[in-house]
Amino acid sequence: MNAFRRDNSQAHFLRAKKSIPGGVNSPARAFGAVGGDPLIIDRGEGSILFDLDDNRLIDYVSSWGPHILGHRHPDVMTAVEAALAKGTSFGAPTELETELAEAVIAAVPSVEKVRMVNSGTEATMSAIRLARGHTGRDKVIKFAGCYHGHVDSLLVQAGSGALTHGMPSSPGVPAGCASDTIALPFNDAATLSDTMDQIGDQVACVILEPVVGNMGVVAPIEGFLETCREVCSAHGTLLIFDEVMTGFRLAYGGAQSLFGVIPDMTTLGKIVGGGMPVGAYGGRAEIMDSISPDGPVYQAGTLSGNPLAMACGLATLKILRETDPYPELAERTSRLVAGLDQAATEAGLDHVVARGGSMFTLFFNPETVTSYDVSAKNDTERFGAYFRGMLEQGIYLPCSQFEANFVSTAHSDQDINETLAAARSVLAGIAG
Ligand SMILES: *Cc1c(COP(=O)(O)O)cnc(C)c1O
Repeated sequence: MNAFRRDNSQAHFLRAKKSIPGGVNSPARAFGAVGGDPLIIDRGEGSILFDLDDNRLIDYVSSWGPHILGHRHPDVMTAVEAALAKGTSFGAPTELETELAEAVIAAVPSVEKVRMVNSGTEATMSAIRLARGHTGRDKVIKFAGCYHGHVDSLLVQAGSGALTHGMPSSPGVPAGCASDTIALPFNDAATLSDTMDQIGDQVACVILEPVVGNMGVVAPIEGFLETCREVCSAHGTLLIFDEVMTGFRLAYGGAQSLFGVIPDMTTLGKIVGGGMPVGAYGGRAEIMDSISPDGPVYQAGTLSGNPLAMACGLATLKILRETDPYPELAERTSRLVAGLDQAATEAGLDHVVARGGSMFTLFFNPETVTSYDVSAKNDTERFGAYFRGMLEQGIYLPCSQFEANFVSTAHSDQDINETLAAARSVLAGIAG
């Protein structure tokens, strides 16, 4: 492998910082938590990214989740090119929108009707509005460390970049916007039950990531999702699974199909757009019929259901449905995770590895991570050293301890072997 270079990325990043706040269009891309400047990406091919210095990087960021098929899958490219040939946007219905809606409904157990939007944030924002409008209640329960996009009312003890940058909530969110949001500890069924006993009749919805990806990968402990379902049913509160990350990732039908716990509404994003800007929210028809134009709850979008994005999402789902890559993805990810675990153990480092399907996190934490309080005990300095070491070996990891890594169908055994070889030397080097 050629020596790692960053001259061109650095020069360009200096230029970007003059015109873009922080040089990035999303703070999760900044390297603030790990040191240094982000690489400027030129192109992707399968499991590999190339940056402006032509470094070859094995990609575990996967555009933060969408690329379960890797970059530029040929069938996806063909579908996007066919849509492009017809035009980019019409602001009128197309066949592709219905086809993607039908595919989502066929896949995700809770979804009888679905509305397309342009991002995961828009999906959760709209789902919360619909839950409030439909129930006539204002309060929302979320869980610390879960991230639901940068929705005002949900930027309370939020995960992802909001954790990394030490801003559990943000200036610019009026107190009134967040005052109806109650943040509880994840995986704490007793606290949820007690809270619902007291105020359940005022709570429009409980929203959660059924398997959390945004404080690193954190699985629900046995019975937690079932308790969420029970208390919501008992109080006429809507249960929303935010499956923007887990949808089509943990299983084709998302976490709900794996755990057999069916929410009232589901939010989607990332894989459903195959790398194009798509979000979606859906649920029981009776709830979804409260949305405009059939119902009174307003939600709209100039580019919603965009034909290029629909074609990209449809082609992605079709491949996932027809090839069922999930068992093989889980097997390959298990092998990677077992190798990382062994390398960290041999280096004598406090760590735990968490995996859900093809998502995983190597936590520099002495305890199994079950909640935000435990995740906060991570040794983020050590993570930074690990991240920098891996990058120089050509392994592109999420630039924060509080994120999930993603394995795609494009990752080969050779990629996994190269990654493990790099991890063994980097982890040994940062021990002590
Ligand atoms: C990424 C993510 C979002 C936000 O989606 P954007 O497309 O970034 O707005 C919301 N919820 C979860 C669980 C996510 O992982």
